[in-house]
Amino acid sequence: MSAIPTHIDFRRNVQSVEPQVPASVRKATTRFLDTRAAVVDVIGQESWQALRQAGHDVRLHTINHLDYYLARLEEEVTRAGGHVHWARDAQEANRIVLEIAQEHRVKRVVKAKSMVTEEIGLNRTLVDAGVQTLETDLGEYIVQLAGTGPSHIMVPAIHLTKEGIADLFREKLGLDALPEAARLAALARAQLRQEFLAADMGITGANFLVAETGTLVLVTNEGNGRMCTTLPPLHVAVAGIDKVVPDLESLNVLLKLLPRSATGQKMSAYTAFITGPRRTEEENGPKEFHLVLLDNGRTIILQDEITRETLLCIRCGACLNVCPVYNHVGGHAYGFAYSGPIGAILLPQLVGTKVAADLPFASSLCGACADICPVKIPIVEILLRLRRRVVEGDTVEPAVSPATLRLGVQMVARAMSIPWLYDLAGQLLRIAQAPFRRGAWLPSLPPPLNRWTMARPLPALRADWRAAWRRRTPEGRTRQRRIRIALVAALASAAAYVGWRLIQRQDRGE
Ligand code: SF4
Repeated sequence: MSAIPTHIDFRRNVQSVEPQVPASVRKATTRFLDTRAAVVDVIGQESWQALRQAGHDVRLHTINHLDYYLARLEEEVTRAGGHVHWARDAQEANRIVLEIAQEHRVKRVVKAKSMVTEEIGLNRTLVDAGVQTLETDLGEYIVQLAGTGPSHIMVPAIHLTKEGIADLFREKLGLDALPEAARLAALARAQLRQEFLAADMGITGANFLVAETGTLVLVTNEGNGRMCTTLPPLHVAVAGIDKVVPDLESLNVLLKLLPRSATGQKMSAYTAFITGPRRTEEENGPKEFHLVLLDNGRTIILQDEITRETLLCIRCGACLNVCPVYNHVGGHAYGFAYSGPIGAILLPQLVGTKVAADLPFASSLCGACADICPVKIPIVEILLRLRRRVVEGDTVEPAVSPATLRLGVQMVARAMSIPWLYDLAGQLLRIAQAPFRRGAWLPSLPPPLNRWTMARPLPALRADWRAAWRRRTPEGRTRQRRIRIALVAALASAAAYVGWRLIQRQDRGE
């Protein structure tokens, strides 16, 4: 998967989703949602909501005072004997990590799961420079073998079945494996064990960075994070600048929210606190510790007071689990490291709405993501804000020409202001639907409306005696009118959107 995509075509990606993906994804997300609901029940709804509010407040406070907390973090990491590097973008972060590797003549790297290194495409940089780079989280190890990227923030191989993973092990590792989770995990563990011991450098991300103490916090379930940070003589952590938290007290709130929201656990199996490299009196740990703090568009995100709350995210993945769109298409359709609702709001801000114009629309706006988010990110508001930017342009990319969209909106506004035009539109739609109507439904419509009917049938517009009777009452007339407005609006918007997409394609010379 490319580090920074030049264009994300969500619709095209959806067409290539493999048939087993929705069932595999739903099986896992349902399990996570059930276990999450159970641990939240133990706490009680009232306390859980209070905890969410506390998490939101801590994160928002930190993001609003990021300059202060980052300076404090640098001071404390340096005081603990670590080295802090600042990277403006993906290219700079990759260069810094590669230079550290080359200075230490690193040949083999072991990596713990880190979404930010997926974001910058670090593996490719290291491999291209001749450094063997191995993912050691089981899910990441599997998707690395498959040659793809993660399809879920917490569960990178969520889209694969056990049978598919067994086939992959047979094909790539020459291992005959039964399609059983424990057996597959044991095989991977046996493969990885020697790699930990032989590695020259361990790379991790960070779940949190505590400014008060300069501590990096890693939350994992497999223990590979600890192996990556203790066995190799060199530890490099790459983290977004948004990962900082003020102090251990704030961390305590977030550590209650993260595992419960992510996997339905009270605590993850391993929570590692790493403050600087190994001290002289200590037996374990790396001799050197480097922290690369990545901006990569985050300071631009900060400039908008609504979208800045995207940076509150603690990457729990709960919004993916609950999202009907994500459950239907899986993570690869989003075309980049982050997927689901957080991907739909984060990616357009990281890469620009011109590159990821589809993603703010990859949502039914049902609001389930915002309801489940442990730090109360207003995802729906941010999606709407980004939809607006798609039309008007954003601070990252120049505006696209919205001529057809403007025309569509003007047509709808006109239709909505002239009552006889509503009625006429309703009559015309009823006539137009006749060739496509099958009973009460329209199962298949021509473009652009086929975008809807490819997924589900559209109810046909009916003019039966019940509707005629309803029209005789004021409420009935209002309802009929609303239905017509909605249909006219949907038709005009769809036509305008298709026109706008055609202009975009023309601009790109496709
Ligand atoms: S947006 Fe909220 S629910 Fe989604 S991954 Fe981030 S913290 Fe979790």
